[in-house]
Amino acid sequence: MSTVNALLPPLMQRLGVVPSAYTGGTLRVTSPIDGSELGCLAPHSAQQVQQLVDAAHQAFLSWRKTPAPRRGELIRLLSEELRLAKNDLGQLVSLEAGKILSEGLGEVQEMIDICDFAVGLSRQLYGLTIASERAGHRMMESWHPLGVVGVISAFNFPVAVWSWNTALAIVCGDAVVWKPSEKTPLTALACQALFERAAQRFGDAPPALSQLLIGTREVGEALVNHPKAALISATGSTRMGREVGPNVARRFGRSLLELGGNNAVIITPSADLDLTVRGILFAAVGTAGQRCTTTRRLIVHHNVRQVLTERLKQSYLALPIGNPLTAGTLVGPLIDRAAFEGMQQALAQARQEGGQVFGGERVLADQFPDAYYVKPAIVAMPTQTEVVRHETFAPILYIMGYTHFEEAVAMQNDVPQGLSSAIFSNDLRETEAFLSASGSDCGIANVNIGTSGAEIGGAFGGEKETGGGRESGSDAWRAYMRRATNTINYSKELPLAQGVRFEV
Ligand code: NAD
Repeated sequence: MSTVNALLPPLMQRLGVVPSAYTGGTLRVTSPIDGSELGCLAPHSAQQVQQLVDAAHQAFLSWRKTPAPRRGELIRLLSEELRLAKNDLGQLVSLEAGKILSEGLGEVQEMIDICDFAVGLSRQLYGLTIASERAGHRMMESWHPLGVVGVISAFNFPVAVWSWNTALAIVCGDAVVWKPSEKTPLTALACQALFERAAQRFGDAPPALSQLLIGTREVGEALVNHPKAALISATGSTRMGREVGPNVARRFGRSLLELGGNNAVIITPSADLDLTVRGILFAAVGTAGQRCTTTRRLIVHHNVRQVLTERLKQSYLALPIGNPLTAGTLVGPLIDRAAFEGMQQALAQARQEGGQVFGGERVLADQFPDAYYVKPAIVAMPTQTEVVRHETFAPILYIMGYTHFEEAVAMQNDVPQGLSSAIFSNDLRETEAFLSASGSDCGIANVNIGTSGAEIGGAFGGEKETGGGRESGSDAWRAYMRRATNTINYSKELPLAQGVRFEV
């Protein structure tokens, strides 16, 4: 055992996961910290997927009749479990996904936040009352539970994405079946155990209300194709969304897609450069560049390009890179070898396309021969070339210059993805133009803060190849319910709408 995987058994025990749940199977899970084996899980078969979704559907049929505020009580209990387990689960996120501990804990805090939000929401699933054109009539909207929600999640937010979906789905009266990333199933086992503890304390939640599917994309495909999965909420690469979206549409299911991003920051001449450097640093190298909202492109006015690039390089040289569980580390490892190779290929392509690369090389290979730590890279690009328009899921920050503000906004929008964006500027005309209809085309547009680290109160998601889905706060709950329009006649007449006459 390495010092890293030796941390696992006591954590799992405290989180309520028995060793047999993560040993003896064929799905091998390793820690990105040192490449050591954390567990071998038994994947579900396609037939088991069918059975589990059917069982979840049975749970839905009774759960939908439980009053919504009572459903909220289950999520309140889940938030209590999460508060108690925050340190252990945060550490497990670091072990399995390689995030620094502060970010692992932050991810669990995000779960607690969405639970609190959902508890309040359980008393606010409002519909409208609508004026009817007919005398003695009333119209209204009712929101009803939808069915089984299939959740597919990515490795980089191994627990938060499940909670965004589950907290809302459960108060909305749905059942949940979750297929986590094959790279991070241990955190999923822990979440499931915490949910079951909460359900036990709740008392009369139907069995199978929240289920876990272990396996690779084949298991995800079986979930996607199940006719009783009313909504598929899928988070991951655009490649995955291109497959999942049409498959769900083919059976007229609903999908909520949260896919890749290629997020830019525009820096104008009036920007506060101290603030800008700090904002960019967290957004570009936090989570080792493995957030969907990571800043990947800087579009900088020529007057400040040189000075900003130099200041960023100085900050990059001072970054503590290493074991994410060690206090003081800011940059942990990449998830695996494939991620490292993808990064090196992108840097080679950037050089071919005229880029000047600073950083990007592997470090700590002696200490961690089976893990992949890199120096985050800054690449000065002549223009927004092909490689820049592609999402490489690693810490590469491309810097490009601009002269006119309109040119900067056009560059910001000229990529296939549309997740997050930001502007650093103290010029009101520029910031408002950036936020306007002809400004950023992204689902998230910020002023004087970076592109990553969203709060749960707002709707989260993006446009174009990011998939168009919205989850978490605001009115994202509507995706988890179905809307019925009701017309009620309390008169003794039967007038038809639009003045149509139909009498014998
Ligand atoms: P991935 O696409 O490789 O895998 C994501 C999940 O999809 C996994 O659980 C995988 O098993 C499953 N999957 C893959 N193909 C499938 C198919 N055909 N049918 C059903 N399931 C399938 O992504 P990843 O490498 O784990 O995560 C990184 C990617 O996720 C990046 O592109 C990142 O931008 C994106 N991401 C987006 C958001 C967002 O909210 N927009 C959040 C986190 C990550």
